[in-house]
Amino acid sequence: MNALEATNLYFKRAVKLLQLDSKVERSLLIPFREIKVECTIPRDDGTLSSYVGFRVQHDNSRGPMKGGIRYHPEVELNEVNALAQLMTWKSAVANIPYGGAKGGIGCNPRDLSPTELERLTRVFTQKIHDVIGPNLDIPAPDMGTSAQTMAWILDEYSKFHGYTPGVVTGKPVDLGGSLGREAATGRGVLFATEALLKDHNLSIRDQSFVVQGFGNVGSWASKLIHEQGGKVKAVSDVTGAIKNNAGLDITALTDYVQKTGGVKGFQDAEALDPAALLSEDCDVLIPAALGGVLNAETAKDVRAKFIVEAANHPTDPVADEILEKRGVIILPDIYANCGGVTVSYFEWVQNIQGFPWEEEKVNSNLKKYMERAYTNIKELCNTHNCSPRMGAFTLGVHRVARATLLRGWEA
Ligand code: GLU
Repeated sequence: MNALEATNLYFKRAVKLLQLDSKVERSLLIPFREIKVECTIPRDDGTLSSYVGFRVQHDNSRGPMKGGIRYHPEVELNEVNALAQLMTWKSAVANIPYGGAKGGIGCNPRDLSPTELERLTRVFTQKIHDVIGPNLDIPAPDMGTSAQTMAWILDEYSKFHGYTPGVVTGKPVDLGGSLGREAATGRGVLFATEALLKDHNLSIRDQSFVVQGFGNVGSWASKLIHEQGGKVKAVSDVTGAIKNNAGLDITALTDYVQKTGGVKGFQDAEALDPAALLSEDCDVLIPAALGGVLNAETAKDVRAKFIVEAANHPTDPVADEILEKRGVIILPDIYANCGGVTVSYFEWVQNIQGFPWEEEKVNSNLKKYMERAYTNIKELCNTHNCSPRMGAFTLGVHRVARATLLRGWEA
């Protein structure tokens, strides 16, 4: 089952639990707009390369559409569609006034120089500038993109529409980005994990963690969990996997990764087969890398009691069923990683008001939003006697359906 089929399946289950009308179901299932553009750039060596860029705008009933832009070789329309739909439910779960969108370019950013990446980003922005904007669709960073990518989009967009910092979030702080945005998804993962553990009379301090992925989300989540006294036993990234049963020194590891570009070879740890990482003995498993890593093959070997989905769509429906049957509690992506888009919302608010917030205000509001969403999800789990994933889906779908119905269809 691909990412779109899986997302549609959860959506349809939520529709059933909520007993929604089939007309509403159909209108929420079909994306608002799908864009596919050709992006050709001159390479540094004078040759030309062509890439395909996408932006899928899924729904705007609750506000402007919102979601990241991903640069990755596996970017394709179906997956972008699924991720755009997940953004709609994610914004609704966080209760921020946005719809959902997602974009991406099928490229390997590691093979492109900074000037080539800048050219590619500018060409892509030229192709989509008419359909994005602070009240229309607001891109943000995702896998393979960064604050610098957002700065180029902001600059290119502003050539057509005048200086508009609110067109993107996750910008550099010097261009109107928010303090705390860089760490926000990882910090949200920490707050979500705290809420989950508290609910089970546990705390970060007495748990062990395994984190798959040491990019922006995985490294910030590991660092913040480590600071709270949690034992991060194993981590991995594209270079390899490492473990230390006594707990990794995440501060030293972060410095090491900054210098060497990956976790492989870190001194105070033993090397681990990356394929064995998901089945490492731990209390909490945090997939923070690609989608689909927990599947029929890998799910049966998971030894964690809790899974916190820092990545988007890391668990396919077959794995979800296997894990649920085994009593593993999964905090779903549309809740667990909503800290990023929540602080994106705070950034957009600061841009609109022209009034920057202190970092403490960003972090304390993020905590409030994460705790409120956890409580709301639990309420729906109790009402529908369902898993946290279906609790989050019913919460998101219900809020979007209500907005859609209130706005009506009269032409
Ligand atoms: N790319 C992030 C996500 O998948 C953040 C999106 C945003 O801030 O708009 O949630």
